[in-house]
Amino acid sequence: MKKQTRAIHTDFPRRDTYGALSMPVYHTAAYEFDDADEMADAFCGRVIAPDYSRVLNPTVMFFEDKVKALTGANDVIAFTSGMAAISTALMAVAASGKNIITSRHLFGNTFSLLTVTLQRFGVETRLCDLTNIAEVKEAFDENTCCVFLEIITNPQMEVADLPVLANVAHAHNVPLIADTTMIPFTEFDAHSLGVDIEVVSSTKYISGGATSLGGLIIDYGTTPGFDHRIRFELIFNLGGYMTPHAAYMQTLGLETLAVRYQAQAATALALAKKLRGLAPIKRVNYVGLEDNPYYAISRKQFGPTSGAMITIDLADADECKRFINRLKLIRRATNLFDNKSLAIHPASTIFGPFTDEQRRDMDVLDTTIRLSIGLEDVEDLYEDIRQALDN
Ligand SMILES: *Cc1c(COP(=O)(O)O)cnc(C)c1O
Repeated sequence: MKKQTRAIHTDFPRRDTYGALSMPVYHTAAYEFDDADEMADAFCGRVIAPDYSRVLNPTVMFFEDKVKALTGANDVIAFTSGMAAISTALMAVAASGKNIITSRHLFGNTFSLLTVTLQRFGVETRLCDLTNIAEVKEAFDENTCCVFLEIITNPQMEVADLPVLANVAHAHNVPLIADTTMIPFTEFDAHSLGVDIEVVSSTKYISGGATSLGGLIIDYGTTPGFDHRIRFELIFNLGGYMTPHAAYMQTLGLETLAVRYQAQAATALALAKKLRGLAPIKRVNYVGLEDNPYYAISRKQFGPTSGAMITIDLADADECKRFINRLKLIRRATNLFDNKSLAIHPASTIFGPFTDEQRRDMDVLDTTIRLSIGLEDVEDLYEDIRQALDN
């Protein structure tokens, strides 16, 4: 079966009593057992059966199975948010005295998780230019526990070479962990590019129009002990497992993911091309534009689409503020890949709590507006941007 068919048709592990066509929402904290032995087997992991919904829940397991069927992963674990998935994945590989090799170009909370929170527990973060492989090699030592990156950085839109990074990581026996939120796993095969573990904010494309928060760890089984440590230690102790209601909504979102994504990515490309004709816009940054420095590598790794995030640069921060205030159709909001198009000024919002110097280090410019393209008609979006730039 092709991916789109698999996204729709996933067998229930056990048939629902009423033959419900949608996986029911099992809104229960606990599960009853017929006898003491069955109970002991479930609690000790000898049999995979839900005992408590912080650890397993049938609605969440169904969502995980769908992602497994679409990615071919060894194990998929769903979380309450992208940050819960990322923090749990990093806590599974790191320990006091270990170091993580990553980039300065990271989602704001991930940057803070690495440089503030994990730092407090004795984990060092080594920030390098992941597009400079000599610098990456230099950063390794015997305490390096993983290489972590985002496949298209936000808002800089940098794309590193995944197979090259994977080779270096594997030569040191550590996994390459990639945040693949920007291009859904229905579009490209991260594992064939050398990625050992994917982490995803399923809040974005998968949730189906910002219906709920969610996160995924997609484990390809190449890191010894990784998913076992999550399933039998961190899920219990950190408590970030997805809730059944979110899993229900995200399962529906998954069914329409490829269709929505294709439409949003096509609109983003068409809009990016049109925006280059507007004089007040100094730069349009989108990896799907042929003269973008990351166009070729993005095509090679992710295929013909480039996601639905565009950034534009205006003359200065005041211009950005005026532009945002004048928008009529595009919503002033954070988040990515809602069905509605969204605009935000990253420097004063997501990266607002950082110092000027930190923002400079991260290449987050005062002049940049981030646009997340939704499912509206491209002409209407263009017209809104055009009128917001006028006078
Ligand atoms: C939104 C986002 C996250 C965080 O996900 P939440 O679901 O908001 O916790 C992490 N990484 C990237 C690339 C994101 O866009």
